[in-house]
Amino acid sequence: VGCGSAKSNGTLVVGTNAAFPPFEYIGDDGNPDGFDVALIKAIGEKIGMDVKIQDMEFDSLVSSIGGKIDVAIAGMTVTEERQKTVDFSEPYYEAVQAVIVPKGSSIKSADDLKNLKIGVQLGTTGEFIADEIEGAEVSAYNKAIDAVNDLNNGRVDCVIVDKNPAEVFGTQFADSVDVLPGTDFDFEPEFYAIALPKGNTELADKINNAIAELKKDGTYDKLVAQYIEE
Ligand code: GLN
Repeated sequence: VGCGSAKSNGTLVVGTNAAFPPFEYIGDDGNPDGFDVALIKAIGEKIGMDVKIQDMEFDSLVSSIGGKIDVAIAGMTVTEERQKTVDFSEPYYEAVQAVIVPKGSSIKSADDLKNLKIGVQLGTTGEFIADEIEGAEVSAYNKAIDAVNDLNNGRVDCVIVDKNPAEVFGTQFADSVDVLPGTDFDFEPEFYAIALPKGNTELADKINNAIAELKKDGTYDKLVAQYIEE
């Protein structure tokens, strides 16, 4: 009321998992914040929809689209498996997995990961990669930070998680861990996109157009600088 908004296209219920900094985390005011949250709010502005953020387990986001939530933004990598269930927007960020190791670890390359105890976040591309490593004993946690805590406790030998959260955790535990780049392990690039209900091309077009506009008008770069590069 009185905000001059002309939002007439309803509410977009957006699922995320607010435990993946800097893309989504719980802010000081107790509400979800982060790059993805800011991006989807900016998209909401462009398409004239109110955005309501629903914080949930990462592992249940894809199956909730079209039910509890309309779309999901959660640093989610486009994968063929997920594309069987949902559509994706145009990618908005390129990422790669990183490896968090105890400080001074001898782990340096792909071969060194064989037969290790590896911590990952449940249902993520980090888990899918770890599952393919010969002899690996994989422990999957609901939150990536819990895997990092178990690394600090010595319960796992390393953690495989997306590079930006890895860097945040690496800063948090700068005395005890090192973060190694995915290129050292031949990990493939990954592309984050917004997960959308399958076949809803009208919504996909609107969201893709909004992303393109936000890139053109400088909002996207501003959010990268604010949330990812600071
Ligand atoms: N990018 C990873 C994936 O899509 C992890 C995402 C996350 O944990 N939020 O599986």
